[in-house]
Amino acid sequence: MEFHEVSFGYGQDKPVVDQISLNILQGQWVTLVGSNGSGKSTLVKLTNALLPKSAGSIKVNGIELQSNTIGEIRRNVGMVFQNPDNQFIGTTVEDDIVFGLESQCFPVDIMEQRIQTYAAKLGITDLLHKHPSELSGGQKQRVAIVSILSMEPEIVIFDEASSMLDEKTRNDLTVILSDMHQSGKYTILSITHDAEEIAASERVLVLHEGKLIADSTPIELFRDDHMLEMCHLTAPFAFRLKSELHKQGVEIPIPSSEEELIEGLWPLLSNK
Ligand code: ADP
Repeated sequence: MEFHEVSFGYGQDKPVVDQISLNILQGQWVTLVGSNGSGKSTLVKLTNALLPKSAGSIKVNGIELQSNTIGEIRRNVGMVFQNPDNQFIGTTVEDDIVFGLESQCFPVDIMEQRIQTYAAKLGITDLLHKHPSELSGGQKQRVAIVSILSMEPEIVIFDEASSMLDEKTRNDLTVILSDMHQSGKYTILSITHDAEEIAASERVLVLHEGKLIADSTPIELFRDDHMLEMCHLTAPFAFRLKSELHKQGVEIPIPSSEEELIEGLWPLLSNK
């Protein structure tokens, strides 16, 4: 995805997305962070023309976004939103998934095969004949993801898809994103406030008042207290502990997992 000096405003006021230029490479897993109102949701909605950009240019898979390419680009960009309740149309989970596939005119055998494949991947096979109202929030979000993945888009955008989920289900979603990333089939752009999800991604974009103010890695972000404060984010536990120890003059390597954290701490604890 290529954004070149892209701007958008809802009214006469100053732009909500202000001259953003950035490239996201195929296969990357990118998180988009920033305080509420910084323009994240607006920016991703410009990608497939859910909102019309007012200036600049956007290319997806090398195709310039304009009125005659919107359909083609939308087929390549799937979006999962915050509230799964707003994403249901069908009376059963399966109907709901079929609805999206039918809108793209897939043959019946392909539809059936894809539903089975992605439902199994996301662990919802047993739910296919249930009414959406019978599902928990986490199950609904899995169904929403299956609906999108079964259309096999190359780019998947998550707009705070984990924010209404409990911690366990949020962690499950991070695992799903990791699996998608490792499959090498998807480019992922995810708006999130979840520190563990940010830590698992490979690149972080920071928006502030409609401007792109940082393009870095999760580790760089978690080292930057000022940036964390601006984004209203808290670093994962392991990073916070490392930073507190650093202030006390105790150095441990940056852990990438809880196991590594314990390994790093163990010699210090056993010395005392
Ligand atoms: P974020 O996703 O970072 O929370 P948004 O893109 O949702 O930010 O919003 C950016 C700004 O645009 C906010 O000031 C918000 O109030 C405003 N905004 C969002 N949606 C609309 C809308 N439909 N009409 C007018 N203003 C909007």
